[in-house]
Amino acid sequence: MEIITQKVSDSRINQVDPLDIKFGKIYSDHMLVADYQNEQWSKAEIVPYEDLVLSPATTCLHYGQAIFEGIKAYKTPSGEVKIFRPYENWKRFNLSAQRMGMPDVPENIFMDGMKQLIALDRDWVPSSEGCSLYIRPFMIATDAFIGVKPAEEFKFIIISSPAGAYYAQPIKIFVHDKYTRACAGGVGEAKAAGNYGATMMPMMEVRKMGYDQILWTDAVHHKYVQEIGTMNVFFVLGDTVVTPDLKGGTILAGVTRASMIEILKEKGIKIEERPISIDEISAAYDAGQLNECFGAGTAAVVAPIAELHYEGKDMKVNTPKENSITDMLKKELADIRYGRIDDKHNWMYKVC
Ligand SMILES: *Cc1c(COP(=O)(O)O)cnc(C)c1O
Repeated sequence: MEIITQKVSDSRINQVDPLDIKFGKIYSDHMLVADYQNEQWSKAEIVPYEDLVLSPATTCLHYGQAIFEGIKAYKTPSGEVKIFRPYENWKRFNLSAQRMGMPDVPENIFMDGMKQLIALDRDWVPSSEGCSLYIRPFMIATDAFIGVKPAEEFKFIIISSPAGAYYAQPIKIFVHDKYTRACAGGVGEAKAAGNYGATMMPMMEVRKMGYDQILWTDAVHHKYVQEIGTMNVFFVLGDTVVTPDLKGGTILAGVTRASMIEILKEKGIKIEERPISIDEISAAYDAGQLNECFGAGTAAVVAPIAELHYEGKDMKVNTPKENSITDMLKKELADIRYGRIDDKHNWMYKVC
């Protein structure tokens, strides 16, 4: 689908220092916008990146009908621009939309829109190792109405921002047995804005105590682990990789998570998706079997964990050595993304 495009007259790309990219500080020249009214989507338009003008009564500002996605585009050594598994994000976006009472965004707006937007802003995709263009599609409810009801008007937007190499220092984790991120029947499996808002205060508290992130446990028993901050979580217990399953509806189905599970299976490494309690992790630690532990998500890709703190007990995890599972996954995903190994899964979506 041909998307209406209004180009900038002067690019702001020279404001980016390729050796010191500050994520989220600067956005690429263009953005994609589509509006939903009278039960249909308008034509998508690519326009210069600009501020939005909204009524102060705009419903998303009050009642939180807002969802988003996070996707990365990479530049291969030959200069091709490719996006990692964007169809998975499109599908997940529409699952989030359904859960939040918002309309589906059709493929010709989400996928064709993203492709044409990134092709136009291709100079914004950094080429050095570890760098990428972070793509942020999102949808907000835009009725100018403060009565509480499902909205009827929505805006879908895609913006993007260059992201530098993310040298993930091993992080210290506080296992929370008080606050909850998500409960069964709630919106934990949707990428809904409010899920993040609710985690800011507990995050501030644990930061004050010297921790980097929270390992969330289930809302009922505060025993079964769910996610680390806003990443999925993996444990290597003995020679088996274990990650919580998605059946409870409280965990966001990460694309990074799914990709890692596939890679582990191919390499013949034992991987189990099942409920896992903090007591099991603690017992494995005591038995010297908690070998590795890491978070997985688009932003950091792999975030190794140095320490888990649970009810007065500090469990130190070895920082991943060469040939560890953490290291292998990180390397394998980077090799696929930068086109250094064959993309046999067809995960890379070519933009230009
Ligand atoms: C986005 C997100 C993830 C990671 O998903 P990816 O598709 O791998 O980026 C994990 N947990 C939460 C809560 C998230 O919002």
